[in-house]
Amino acid sequence: MSNRHLTYLVGAMLAVASTAPATAHAQATKPAEDPHAKAIADVVLANHILADQGVVDGFGHVSIRDPADPNKFLMARSMAPELVTPADVVEHDLDGNGNAGPNVKLYLERFIHAEIYRARPDVMSIVHCHSPSLIPFAATGVALKPLYHMSSFLGPGVPVFEIHKAANASTDMLVRTPELGKALAKSLGTHPAVLMRGHGAVIVGKDVQQAVFRSVYTQLNAQLQGQAMALGAKITYLDAEEAKKSEETNNGNIPRAWELWVRKVKQQK
Ligand SMILES: [Zn+2]
Repeated sequence: MSNRHLTYLVGAMLAVASTAPATAHAQATKPAEDPHAKAIADVVLANHILADQGVVDGFGHVSIRDPADPNKFLMARSMAPELVTPADVVEHDLDGNGNAGPNVKLYLERFIHAEIYRARPDVMSIVHCHSPSLIPFAATGVALKPLYHMSSFLGPGVPVFEIHKAANASTDMLVRTPELGKALAKSLGTHPAVLMRGHGAVIVGKDVQQAVFRSVYTQLNAQLQGQAMALGAKITYLDAEEAKKSEETNNGNIPRAWELWVRKVKQQK
């Protein structure tokens, strides 16, 4: 080994020795992350990821149930998802009231979130989107089914919300009242997703990572199913057992996708 290499090695060892205690100290004294602040940060990230993945555009929204109060949820004020910042996140109650003052416009369809959180204690995060690839399914009555393993959570089926039936009238298609929110929650039932005829979809999860993962892959499955149907041959979907086994595997791997999607949106800043 040359002297130059030796000098480098000794220098590197000294550097490690001098920084290691400082790093350990920093980790030991780092304050625990405030769950409320983390939920707000996650709402912002989820908005940016869903926009980056093409699930939402200028419209659509995502919420997280308040970790400190199950009767509240965190969601942006009415704005394009890609532009949401922590200052735009508003705490809503299950009646659809926001804590942001009279001059802050809230999403007209906040009752989607309020009534699903009320009906589904297991749901901790909700996405509402108008993803174009989903629209043909509810419009035609063709069932959305898992075509591949990434969308295996669709195995139990995807119900369709018919707003004309729920309102018993022609509407502007928006879930803008608690009554319509309740009817939508009823259509969703215990499923992970519900299609909304002539409008879009709602996807739910046990946490924000699962809700975002399911939203991305519901949309991709719709694209693939449309392509498979266009080929005109018999389609073999995942059977119930395949879907169940695959979903169990996927649920352990969701943080891997989340980490990638977070990195992508942070690089765009
Ligand atoms: Zn909508």
